[in-house]
Amino acid sequence: MKKLLFLGMPGSGKGTQAKLLAEKGFKHISTGDVIREAIKSNNPEIEKYKEYMAQGGLLPDEVIFDLIEKNVSGEDKYILDGAVRTLPQAQFAKEKSLVDTVIFFTLNPEVAHKRLSDRNEGREDDRKEIITKRFREYEEKTKPIINFLKENFEFHEIDANPTIEEIHKKVLEILKLE
Ligand code: AMP
Repeated sequence: MKKLLFLGMPGSGKGTQAKLLAEKGFKHISTGDVIREAIKSNNPEIEKYKEYMAQGGLLPDEVIFDLIEKNVSGEDKYILDGAVRTLPQAQFAKEKSLVDTVIFFTLNPEVAHKRLSDRNEGREDDRKEIITKRFREYEEKTKPIINFLKENFEFHEIDANPTIEEIHKKVLEILKLE
């Protein structure tokens, strides 16, 4: 159980949990972070999708396949954070044996929405109307892949309502890392 996929709606805290777990020696691979970094450093392959992200849309699957492969290369202990959000991405993860365990963070959308609008990271896509678009993308493209993930990988669901520390404890428990 070393190839993890963290999944959940925007605002579910999966990134925060991935950062905490990374302290246990997992490489943290957040496709969102990788894309933001690439845009900041004017990477021409990614920069052209800047508007997709700014508007809360998903980037094309082929671009994500590439990002994932580059980042998992040579690694066998990592957390893919938000890196699988569509069926083709999930199928890709299966074909390439990139995931063995999925942790799905669940939260009610109103709470998630509030968390995102309250956080202050200066992200363009944390604006109210863009949050709504990101939720729609999640509902339409990511939620429908849950069954596929359940059928193909070890799958755990965690209630993302409690405190960061409580959720972290639960993650450690599931991964038998305590
Ligand atoms: P995040 O930081 O995880 O909230 O991701 C921010 C944005 O990056 C998303 O709204 C998408 O525009 C893009 N993105 C990140 N991961 C993916 C993915 N697996 N597939 C498509 N787009 C992604």
